Amino acid sequence: MIKIKNLTKIFTLGDNKLIALNNLSFLVSSGQFLAITGISGSGKSTLLYQLSLLDRPNQGTISIDNINTSKLTSGERISYRLKNLGYIFQDYAILPTLTAKENIMLPLLMQGVKENIAQEKAKEALLKVDLQDRLDHLPSQLSGGQQQRVSIARAIVHNPKILFADEPTANLDTESSETILKIFLNLHKQGQTIIMATHELDYAKLAERNIELRDGLIISDTFKKK
Ligand code: ADP
Ligand code: MG
Repeated sequence: MIKIKNLTKIFTLGDNKLIALNNLSFLVSSGQFLAITGISGSGKSTLLYQLSLLDRPNQGTISIDNINTSKLTSGERISYRLKNLGYIFQDYAILPTLTAKENIMLPLLMQGVKENIAQEKAKEALLKVDLQDRLDHLPSQLSGGQQQRVSIARAIVHNPKILFADEPTANLDTESSETILKIFLNLHKQGQTIIMATHELDYAKLAERNIELRDGLIISDTFKKK
């Protein structure tokens, strides 16, 4: 369970203050598939950055499974993120000089997991995104959709409590986008908590819950009828 309370993020640009997130409070239950929607500039990425501990809010708290993350030191935040959170970026952010398998092993090796175990886990993760036949391919030998699947495998290889995805399909064609959403729905079925930012409403609709932002405020919060 994630508890977000009075979350505020302000960017100061010269004399101007921009309130990117304006006192947001909401709960996300374990296993939920939540889509954050809203037009460009509404605060989606800023929200994901705060929730995934990539950035610190000006005010408010984020508690994950009763751990108040605002109380963690910088070092503790980094290791918490590495161990418990997974993040997928719009542009995949995988390393061009490493193979698919090596890209996925990297976060495990950084946590001190032994190489042979990391290798096995990387293979399992690639199987979950249906890329088991692309283990030793370099990113340049893969399509955009396949590269995004590598980045999903990397984000789930350590069984994170929460999987974050920021506009994961924005650079992809319709067919690849649908494949990515199918993977998310499958992970969700297996109990994965997912928070995905997207401005594409057709994809947001597939999630269990939609929170729409505008100017850093929640303007709607709807649950799909079962
Ligand atoms: P979205 O992801 O919904 O397009 P963002 O979260 O990227 O929106 O941006 C929300 C608002 O905060 C925008 O007005 C944007 O210009 C501003 N913003 C985002 N990041 C920064 C930053 N690092 N410095 C200054 N302003 C920022
Ligand atoms: Mg964004």
